[in-house]
Amino acid sequence: MSDASANAAPKPKKPRVNVRRPDVMERVAAEVAVHFHSSIVEKLKDRGGKVTIGNTTVLLAQQFGFCYGVERAIDLAYASRRVFPENRIFLIGEIIHNPDVNHQLREMGIVSLPWQEITPDYDDLTEDDVIIVPAFGAPTHFMKKVEERGSYVVDTTCGDVMKVWRRVRNYAKEGVTSLIHGKANHEETRATSSRALGEKGDGHYLVVLTLTDTDYVCDYIRHGGDKEEFLRRFEGSTSPGFDPDLHLQRVGVANQTTMLKSETEEIQRRFHQAIADRDGTDTAFQVFDTICGATQERQDALFEMLRTKMDLLLVVGGYNSSNTQHLVEIGEKSLPTFFIRDASCIKSLDEIVHYDLHHKQEVSSPYSELLLGDKPVTVGITAGASCPNNLIEETIVKVFSLRGVDHSELERL
Ligand code: SF4
Repeated sequence: MSDASANAAPKPKKPRVNVRRPDVMERVAAEVAVHFHSSIVEKLKDRGGKVTIGNTTVLLAQQFGFCYGVERAIDLAYASRRVFPENRIFLIGEIIHNPDVNHQLREMGIVSLPWQEITPDYDDLTEDDVIIVPAFGAPTHFMKKVEERGSYVVDTTCGDVMKVWRRVRNYAKEGVTSLIHGKANHEETRATSSRALGEKGDGHYLVVLTLTDTDYVCDYIRHGGDKEEFLRRFEGSTSPGFDPDLHLQRVGVANQTTMLKSETEEIQRRFHQAIADRDGTDTAFQVFDTICGATQERQDALFEMLRTKMDLLLVVGGYNSSNTQHLVEIGEKSLPTFFIRDASCIKSLDEIVHYDLHHKQEVSSPYSELLLGDKPVTVGITAGASCPNNLIEETIVKVFSLRGVDHSELERL
């Protein structure tokens, strides 16, 4: 990176480019199908999500895998390559949280830029470069930087994420602090937090993740407390200049779109009650449920599937995928649940490598008693919104093959 490029004057803002041309999308649909489609998954769906061969049954949740927002983001990324075959194409972070999908984009020459902070790489962008904004969106200062460089922008931000932005911007306009249920360092929540500052940049937000965080804040709302301790506890989760004595007077709740719905509702309820206890009225409280439809459908479908007796549950998806993590949390409460990246994690009938959410690391567990032997076995499978069907197919095939069922028997379904 040269100093000259870093200090160059901002380029004129380019109009957003439309890469969804019919001729392009036809080719994109074919390419995406080759990479991520699964005929076996489609056949299973046609059979109501259940297949039994010999003494092995696989159950698929009624809703799983790619959501509309993810499908759109991937389509637009592929389309960018078609529309700009010779240009450098960059992506802010990852398009979605799935290593397989991100690998495919790298193979197409789409390069990830850092998303946690603006690095000198952004100063090197030129007017001929194309920047893809991921499905989570990107913070406002990233967007400003890209616009300053004059690059083409292909924005794949999901409409459901933008709905949350509209809400927190309104909160800021009304002088209401956004209480955001989410992970402060998640791409989507960082993008949302930046919008909670409002058009003038003087809005405020506080990100809470757990019920314990919520109770701490509720206690402060009711009784006040040690401001310095509060700010230490929520370091990195508040707007600049946040003062709990001033900025918890009028609050509005929003959430990262992929949180666990039941927890989000409980958090909303607790904040509502705290404000009502303090003021004797709830006029200083607003709420807007921003869990997206796709996340909710996948959680509801898993609850429904859990009504059927299963021996174990496999949840397939990227380990950093928030909505997938919540599916794991739901499953763990009912039966042995393994969070796997793909079929390669199932090493053998008595070893599975999986992500332990509680210790935040990949571990290897024996599960011999669950799958070994000739007794009938039922395996449930679901996947987060960022998981392609080909990875689900490979998981189904692996389970059956370890139980002695050949791939060809599944093809014949
Ligand atoms: S999980 Fe929801 S918010 Fe995220 S991309 Fe999919 S539909 Fe959009």
